[in-house]
Amino acid sequence: MSLLVVGSIAFDTIQTESEIRHNLLGGSASYFSFAASLYTPVNLVGVVGKDFPQEFIDHYHNKGVDTQGLQIKEGETFRWWGKYSRDMNHRETIETKLNVFGTFDPIIPESYQSTPYVFLGNGLPSLQSKVLDQMTTPPKFVALDTMNLWIDTQRPALLDVLKRVNALFLNDEEARMLTGHNNLIQAGRKIMELGPEIVIVKKGEHGALVVSGEGLFITPAFPLESFSDPTGAGDSFGGGFMGFVAREDNTSFDTVKKAVLHGTVVASFTCEAFGTSPLENLKYETIEKRMDQFIQLAYVC
Ligand code: AMP
Repeated sequence: MSLLVVGSIAFDTIQTESEIRHNLLGGSASYFSFAASLYTPVNLVGVVGKDFPQEFIDHYHNKGVDTQGLQIKEGETFRWWGKYSRDMNHRETIETKLNVFGTFDPIIPESYQSTPYVFLGNGLPSLQSKVLDQMTTPPKFVALDTMNLWIDTQRPALLDVLKRVNALFLNDEEARMLTGHNNLIQAGRKIMELGPEIVIVKKGEHGALVVSGEGLFITPAFPLESFSDPTGAGDSFGGGFMGFVAREDNTSFDTVKKAVLHGTVVASFTCEAFGTSPLENLKYETIEKRMDQFIQLAYVC
């Protein structure tokens, strides 16, 4: 089953203790698309400026991502610069230049309006609602990602769109901020009262927690010996999760648990090198091998 993603497309500058890389292809929709396209066809909606090279658009095409929904506007592409602490656990945003993303108006092409699986990447909640308004056939499953900025500044609009989604992805700090609960299970249950029936709390190197009406599920992260750049790990997790669910065309709790493991494994590849290249070079057989390793490492079975 096909999958629609709406989100940011960026030129990223990524700085670690030892290295700095400029003008990498980035943005939530890029990481998500490359991850999800390993499982299922992806329809991309986003905006870039006239400075966005054809070579980057070819990267999407090489992975079979449909770019009919990619708008190319007069002006410059969104730019983001993140700098990691020595232990890579903290990230500071050095610069955000919204450019054409600042006036992004997501238009869903007619051929995408019946896509059964939808991922609303991190962005202005009112625009996330606008995407859902354009779906002529109600999607089977909608997931949304958000961040502290929107919880802080756009709470009413965020609460509106949350009523319309099946799953919410957010990190532990954001779950606490949204609900006022320190305990993540309590926070998850509180979020369920706001609309989503599944809450997926990402905990970075500590893995993920799923809170749902059908039960709880936890997973550790895949332990990596070579860790270069965690940028986009959350979006890659979302892409692996949603790609798996859409491919299986099933949203049972059993499938959700397997999807969380796929998301975790796909995200681990993203962290092994800078930017989207590890995902772009990834083969499905390599994911399967790491899944087997992960299950051996993490579970008694
Ligand atoms: P993550 O590491 O999962 O938080 O995702 C990092 C990606 O998010 C980078 O490629 C950035 O280009 C993109 N990004 C950073 N800030 C924003 C923002 N305010 N809205 C949308 N995307 C953003």
